Amino acid sequence: MSKLSPAPGVAKLAPYKQGQSQIDGVENPIKLSSNESSHGPSPAALKAYEEVAQTLNRYPDGSQYELRKAIGDTYGLDPNRIVCGNGSDELIQLMVRAYVRPGDEALLSENGFIMSNIHCVAQGAELVIAPEKDYKVDVDALLARVTDKTRFCTIANPNNPTGTFIDSSELRRLHAGLPKDCLLLIDDAYAEYVWGESYEDGSALVDEFDNVVMTRTFSKIYGLPALRIGWAYCPESIVDASGRIRTPFNTNASALAAAAAAVRDTEFVAKVKAHNKQSLERIQSVVRDLGIEVIPSQTNFYLLKFPEGNGKSGAAAAQHLMSRGIIPRPAGGDDQYLRISVGLDSENDAVLAALTEYMEQ
Ligand SMILES: *Cc1c(COP(=O)(O)O)cnc(C)c1O
Repeated sequence: MSKLSPAPGVAKLAPYKQGQSQIDGVENPIKLSSNESSHGPSPAALKAYEEVAQTLNRYPDGSQYELRKAIGDTYGLDPNRIVCGNGSDELIQLMVRAYVRPGDEALLSENGFIMSNIHCVAQGAELVIAPEKDYKVDVDALLARVTDKTRFCTIANPNNPTGTFIDSSELRRLHAGLPKDCLLLIDDAYAEYVWGESYEDGSALVDEFDNVVMTRTFSKIYGLPALRIGWAYCPESIVDASGRIRTPFNTNASALAAAAAAVRDTEFVAKVKAHNKQSLERIQSVVRDLGIEVIPSQTNFYLLKFPEGNGKSGAAAAQHLMSRGIIPRPAGGDDQYLRISVGLDSENDAVLAALTEYMEQ
């Protein structure tokens, strides 16, 4: 028998399961299962990506200078407090490794980004999970679960798979109720899509307090998930701590160059944002007319709840969409729900036609 065994936290984990990306016998399915952008990246990002081909014999810039500068310019943030990672996924892992000890409690909300759970368990932390209310992060439920062992708390804002966000005052109430030695990580992967005026991203809290981090990604509105690139805005002490464990070349040259061009193309992002909002409004109104509940989303996806009692279900709707070449994502363990990404007009039309067929069956 082998004497080798993984660390206890690692042994506890189940393998990660990616969203479905194929349908047997369908050549070009409409993939709306992973909240990818059907618009693709900015043409400027593609051009920068191609230019990197000339310098593949060189290591990437380990200081990530150009990308941090571009993000700082676009978002009005101090580049010295930006850290880039191999997706926001890696940044979450860096923060957890730097700040969570075995036996600590990690406070999470029912929904959110599953990678936080995985990194916390691997680190040997105990997960404490608060239920949500009305499809939203419930600050009271989170704060009721704070103990003297709570050292890490994270929420996604907006949240996944609900698409809802908590407003500025609720976010601040959450932070104020956490212990001062607890790191609050605000996962703002969908921040660029939000239009609600009561929303604030995590950056002002990062400026005000030394125990808050905001993570962002190029995987969603910027359309670059294949390149694995994200960024975190941090207090100085957290830049320092995460910098000690970050591998020097964690972000590759193609990703750095494409992301820097993408973040400077604010016109492109504004166009995608406007199209997404307009599409969501249209989809939500058609879907409601079909008798399906839709949770009000300000992201590039929406969560449908099929009416109970008349034989309709999220699982059966998913089957029907698949038969029409469309891949949605079943949400959670609950049969009544289905999550679908917002796509191009033609893709959204196909979804609405298939949902209409399904409901009229
Ligand atoms: C898609 C998504 C991300 C992005 O993760 P990357 O590792 O940057 O691709 C982060 N958080 C949430 C909640 C998401 O849905």
